Amino acid sequence: MNAALPPVGGFLASGELARDFPFFDNTHDEFRTLVRARLAESVLPHAQAWEQQGHIDPDGWKALGAAGLLEVGHSGDDFLRSAVLLEELGATGYAGIRASVGVHAYMALSYVLLFGTPEQREAWVPAAHRGEQVTALAISEPNAGSDLRDLRTHARPSGADDAAGFVLDGHKSYVANGTRAGLLVVLARTRDTGADRGLAGASMLLVDADSPGVTRRPQPMAGWRAADIAEIDFDHVEVPAGGLLGRRDRALLQLMRALDFERLVAGLLAVGGVRYTLELLDTHVRTRQVKGVSLGAHQAVRHQLADLFGEFDMVHRYAHHAAWLHAQGRLDTRTASVLKLRSTELAVTAAQVCARYHGALGYREAADAARVHRDATAGTIAAGASELLRDMIFEAN
Ligand SMILES: Cc1cc2nc3c(=O)[nH]c(=O)nc-3n(C[C@H](O)[C@H](O)[C@H](O)COP(=O)(O)OP(=O)(O)OC[C@H]3O[C@@H](n4cnc5c(N)ncnc54)[C@H](O)[C@@H]3O)c2cc1C
Repeated sequence: MNAALPPVGGFLASGELARDFPFFDNTHDEFRTLVRARLAESVLPHAQAWEQQGHIDPDGWKALGAAGLLEVGHSGDDFLRSAVLLEELGATGYAGIRASVGVHAYMALSYVLLFGTPEQREAWVPAAHRGEQVTALAISEPNAGSDLRDLRTHARPSGADDAAGFVLDGHKSYVANGTRAGLLVVLARTRDTGADRGLAGASMLLVDADSPGVTRRPQPMAGWRAADIAEIDFDHVEVPAGGLLGRRDRALLQLMRALDFERLVAGLLAVGGVRYTLELLDTHVRTRQVKGVSLGAHQAVRHQLADLFGEFDMVHRYAHHAAWLHAQGRLDTRTASVLKLRSTELAVTAAQVCARYHGALGYREAADAARVHRDATAGTIAAGASELLRDMIFEAN
């Protein structure tokens, strides 16, 4: 057996997209190079500090905005550039940061872009693109996660009709960007239909987080530490009529459209996370010597990594296909769910193998292997738990 193996290289390090014709071309490779450089400047030097403090600094958001990374398109061919950006965000290896940026620039903002009036878009989107205002998506509640039928947050009309606005009461949990966001995109009941009617009678509201009656508390999680996860109370919060997003009582239709996009975004971010984990693992098994040979000299180790590389290749290509479908306006629930399910489950497997072969070195609190290990599980819960996605894939067959 060889004592040492050649350094990491090949597909993991290059990440070239042009060969994935017809989805991508050389311009996407150039964009990837640009994004990597900008993330290396604006994120990586601060990432550990953001993990420790539990949120991205205001200056960090502005740097991301100034670098143009918060306004890459959500639709059409421009989304292929977003696919590159999302993968590279994931490949920073900081899932809390990728989640925070993904929720802000894609998941939450997509509701404003898809369903907002020109006035609403003008009020919130430019500042969000500049990173001067952070956006959060407050859908989940302690008793309404996978099953939103028990949604209890409600918004009652302040006057005889919607023109007088709403009074919002309720409690939201696990909200990424929760304590720092200026804009909260909130799911609330606007009609008393009862749980048996599901989300009929629910609406999406744009809520100024500084409104009187909004209370926010950090909700520290096991992983995703930079994502600023919080619980939020709404106590008689006055929401002006201009805060209603789209048509009243139509949240179900809006969610059906936005959630596929959310799963696509989560899947692309997770693919980048897997790439980071496999790079970490590959480098380690090639360099760590035990009893005079590298770990990767053992066939059992090499074959385990080969299986992971193969899985990654397939999920990676599938992610490109899903992004391309979305760019064509043809993304379907099954494709978005398969991508989110398989990429986040692969992230867990890769993180477990990565942690195991790092031994005690990777079990230190500050180790990269420990971080990807504690972060990976969250990917299989947020934006739709794996079992829910399996149900949807089965039903869509
Ligand atoms: C790190 C993190 C960040 C989040 N960020 C946000 C956010 O920004 N905004 C927001 O609104 N929400 C957010 N969430 C909440 C997330 O959307 C919910 O956690 C998710 O929808 C699952 O709901 P739940 O946690 O209540 O789990 P439950 O619905 O209680 O389910 C618990 C577990 O049961 C299993 N399960 C569920 N359904 C089935 C089924 N049909 N068959 C078999 N098993 C099943 C799954 O394993 C699931 O994880 C976040 C969650 C996490 C962990």
